This record gives sequence, C-alpha cells and structure tokens, in this order.
Amino acid sequence: MIKCCLLFLMWLATHTVLLSQSLAVCKGVDRVSEIEQLYQSRHLAFSASLFTQDYDLKYHRLEWEVDPAIHHISGKITSYFEPIQENFKQINFDLAKNMTVNAIIFHDTLVSFVQADEDRLQIDLPRVIDQGVLDSISVEYEGSPMTSDFGSFVTSTHNDVPVLWTLSEPYGAKSWWPCKQDLTDKIDSVDIKVTTPRQYRVGSNGLLVDEIEIANGKTTYHWRHRYPIPAYLISLAVTNYVEFSDYVYLENGDSILILNYVYPESFEVAQSLLKSTIVQMELFCELVGMYPFAREKYGHAQFGFFGGMEHQTMSSMGFFFPQLQAHELAHQWFGDKVTCASWQDIWLNEGFATYLEALTLEFLSANPEEWINWKDFTMQLVTNEPGGSTWVDDTTDVARIFNYRLTYQKGAVILHMLRWILGDDQFFQALRNYLEDPHLAYGYATTTDLQQHFETVGGIDLKEFFADWYYGQGYPSYTIRFSTHTNAITISIEQVTSHNNVDFFEMPLPIRVMGQMQDTLLRLDHTFSGQTFEIDLDFTPSSIEFDPQRWILSRSNSVEQIVTHTQDLSKVESAVKVVPNPAKDIIQILFENAESFKAIRSIAIMDLNGKVIDRTEDIHRKVSYDVSSWPSGEYLIAFQYEYGHFTKPIIIQ
Ligand SMILES: [Zn+2]
Repeated sequence: MIKCCLLFLMWLATHTVLLSQSLAVCKGVDRVSEIEQLYQSRHLAFSASLFTQDYDLKYHRLEWEVDPAIHHISGKITSYFEPIQENFKQINFDLAKNMTVNAIIFHDTLVSFVQADEDRLQIDLPRVIDQGVLDSISVEYEGSPMTSDFGSFVTSTHNDVPVLWTLSEPYGAKSWWPCKQDLTDKIDSVDIKVTTPRQYRVGSNGLLVDEIEIANGKTTYHWRHRYPIPAYLISLAVTNYVEFSDYVYLENGDSILILNYVYPESFEVAQSLLKSTIVQMELFCELVGMYPFAREKYGHAQFGFFGGMEHQTMSSMGFFFPQLQAHELAHQWFGDKVTCASWQDIWLNEGFATYLEALTLEFLSANPEEWINWKDFTMQLVTNEPGGSTWVDDTTDVARIFNYRLTYQKGAVILHMLRWILGDDQFFQALRNYLEDPHLAYGYATTTDLQQHFETVGGIDLKEFFADWYYGQGYPSYTIRFSTHTNAITISIEQVTSHNNVDFFEMPLPIRVMGQMQDTLLRLDHTFSGQTFEIDLDFTPSSIEFDPQRWILSRSNSVEQIVTHTQDLSKVESAVKVVPNPAKDIIQILFENAESFKAIRSIAIMDLNGKVIDRTEDIHRKVSYDVSSWPSGEYLIAFQYEYGHFTKPIIIQ
C-alpha cells in the first residue's frame, strides 16, 4: 500500500506538465494528515487470534450483497478447513462484534455460536472433526461495518455516484466479514460472488467468470481466484465503472491481461496513464521473475482512498500516476506472492515495492535525472532524523507499521545497499530465488528468510549488515582525508554515527579517484573509524569523490585533501612555530594553517640522545606542553608526516 506522499508532491513540483487529473485528486492532502493523526492517536491492539490457529483454511466461497448507496453488507461465507489438532470440536473466526450473525450452517444443520470478546466468533460444532479431515461451515451475517485502519469498508461518492470499496490492511478484514485474520495461513483459493444493483460493476480478485442478471434489477458478479491469498488482500470495489483492457505479450507467446475498472470521468486520463503498466510489467518480469498470477490477470480498480492498495490481481487506485502504479504492481511479487510473515517484517512488502517503483525510474525513464533525484531525495528524507529502525518495534501502532520514512524509504535504501554489496547479478538472482523458494512462494516470509537468500547467493555473512541497518538505527557520517602521490593515493576514513544504537556501520565504500584525465572507482572495505588505505594507481590522482552514484545511506560527509607532496614539505615546515624558544614553563606548537597540522601524523619530543620524552598523535592546531619539570637543556621536536619528518630544536631553561 502507499499513501500519497511528499515524494509525489515533490515530483509534482518539478514536473509541472503533470496531469490536471492528479493535481485535482491531490487536493486531498489534508486528508492524509487527518488520517495520520487518527492513527497516531489510536493504538490498535493486535495479535492473531490464538483461537483460529487450530485449523488450516483451504477455501472460501464469499457471497455478498451490497449497494454502494447504503453502508451495509450481508453475506454468506462458506469456509473449507482441515483441523490441524486432535479433538477439534469448536471453530473460531475473527468478526467485529457489531456485525450480526444470522445463522451458522454445518451439514445443513443450524449450530449455536457466541460472539465473544475481542471480535471472536465462536462456533461449537455438534461433533468432533478428525485432524486432517476436510470439512466446511457457512456463516450468514449482515451489518454496517465500522471504519477502521485505512478504511476497511467505505461507502462514499465520486462525481455524485455512490462507490463502495474495501481496504483491509492490516487489521480491517474482520470489520466486514468473518475471516481468519493472520499472517500464517493463506486461503488456498476463493470464489467471490457479489450481488449489487445493475448500474454498478464489481471489481475483485482473480477472473470474472460470470455476470448474471437476477431479479429486482440486480446483477451477481462471480470472481474466481485460484491462488493462495491472505484475508487482508481480498477486496471489493463497486461503482459505475467503465472497463478497458491492455495486454502484456510475453516472449513465450503468452499474454497477461490487464483489466482496468475506472470511473467514467477518469476514463481518458486512466487509459493514457495506465499504459505505463505494460512496460513496468515487462521490466519486473525481467528483473524478478514471471508475474505471479499470470494465469488470471492483473488490473486496477479506482477507489476513494488517497493512494493505492495492492489487492491481489487488482490493485485499488486512488488516482493514476506511473510511480504509484509501479508500486502497487511490484507488490504483486513482494507482498502478495510472498507476504510478510509478521507486521514487524512489513518492509518485505513496502520496502520492496518502494524500491521497485524507483527501479522504473532507473530502467524506464527517459530522463536519467529522475533516478539520481530519487536517490538524493530518499537518502535525505531517511536521514532527516537521527534514529528509527526499519524493523517495526510496535505492531499495535498502525502508523508505526506504515511509517513512510522507515518502512518504505529506509527499507528501499537497505535493498539498494544490498545491491551495492552484492552487485546486480547476485542481487536480482537472490530476489528471484526468494520469490521462487517453495517454502515462501505464495506463502509468508521473514526478514531472516530474505537474508539467507542474499547470503547463499553472495556467499557472505550479512548478520552484521542486518543488525546495523535493519534492526539498528541511524546512519553514518564520513570524514574522508586523502593525499595524492605519484601513481598512488592515501585515503583515511573516519565515521561517526547519528544514533548510539549503532557504533559503527561496516560497509564497502565507493570512492572515485580522478586525475590526468582518468578516473577509477575504488571499493574500500571500511571496518573501523580512522582506517587508512594506501592504493597504487596507474595514474597520478588529483581529486576524489565519495559515493558518486549514491549507494550508501549517509549524511554530512566531508572530503579534505591533505598536503603531503614532498615538495610541499617546506610549506608545512614553515607553517609550524614553536614558542617561546627558549622556554621555561610552557611551550606551544602552533600550526599556521589547517593543511599543515592535518599533514602531521605524530609529534615526538626527544633529548639529544634520541630518547623520546613525549609522543602524541592527537594533533590540533595548537599543541601545548608543560615543561616546567623538564631538565634544562637542548631538545628536538620531530614532526612525522606521511613520507618523512622534520625537526625543530628547542631549549628548555
Ligand atoms: Zn505499498
């Protein structure tokens, strides 16, 4: 899911050609802050119900009747399930307590039920069902669903025409239908039959297999979906849609249907903007593997939420905009085919969708500045605050789960840095392996699962990387000092971190070295602050650039050149003063300019026998010594710099 965000508004600011359509919709920006305030003030307690964990959900037949003009739903939910424990004689579903259950039917018999606390529908079965034996039960219910999370079940209007839509992520499915709301058990397949007044169309998951006109001016739309799906990705969108289709033609001769349901007033804009879905689909298939639901369709259904939602095989769209379209499309792989196994791991959905959305700028945009701008803007946004982890530490807080800076943006940057560490071939191979892993595909994954795929492909240990960047907080700032020599360069790198949660970020750092009309990109394994690298080159360098392609999340970096040429030694020497001389109590070493003291590695004071009295590497612009207790006589101060040293005599009285 993505809410319209600052990124989009920034994009608007720099792309004034943009469609008046999107501008008009974006007036809803007030609503975004409204929504955010709502969620920040409300902490929704969540854990998957322990009562629903004793059966494996196989199938739902979801039969609903709705009228977008009326905030009401009635339905019959038939669930096929297999007990995964012995002595199974009670089945539970999640259903909001304000919904009215009219009947529970088990083998043509009415059975008793209780609508217990914590939105639990408890059904006592007339007999025990054996473990592993498939059985089914139907729940007939109705009511006016409460609005929760990002809407869940909403009736509103567009152009004065009623529209009904759902958006259940993360905890809203139970507000409008009896379900098993967790992230452990996908429903293997569903049939969705929705009856509504004939002037409306119903968009939903899978393929539309039937459209039957029935009595009373109503039509029943039958959608069939034969891929595993979690409850939160099942959706309805109902209004006076007009539809149009596109196709993505694959190299093997097959094609993927892209079915679009849009408001009549948006038809022309949508038809033009949704064309980009075709090349985006081709790109994602190439980068991360075949579209996961190719036997059915992909599509869009316009709805009233200010953003998009990746409903499986039919994303719901608040407006049309290529990056939003790419984001929701990317979710079909990351979020829908492989779903985060807990809301703590939500970046497996959102970080990926954000990064793939950005990859469309890298690979498809005619303007290379867009990809550069994305990196600059994203890194700046992530580092606008010193802390915060992508790992979600509080899943009762919906605003924290969907924190744009941490879950979306920092999540995307973590992937970008993994791509830098592994290189394109291994990075995308790891993503394909992750998506095709039989334990994860059409199921659930944790961050550890993803980490293992990167480690296997790369043959490296990423424990420290994930500890620092995913679980840890903050970012590094680098101070890079370099000195140039004939066909060589010396680079020292210091790092401070923005948050004490991580004391050091180990990273391979990209540094571009330039000189004599040549350049090369170094990759320096930075393992401790103050580390110095001495590197031979086949040209004499004159300047460097840190991270020219923006791979590393960092901020407030500085690059300084240090004077160390032999011919500059006299300059450094003449910039050093020792006063007073002769001295009695205190001597001071003064550097007249920054270049001179930065060039010095150490200062040692020796007597005339060569015995070192004092030595320091802690060099500042002014270095003082208390010499009041030193025996009087002649001493030498030795200034060590990279390729030699010089001395200055001093007399202590
Ligand atoms: Zn998203």
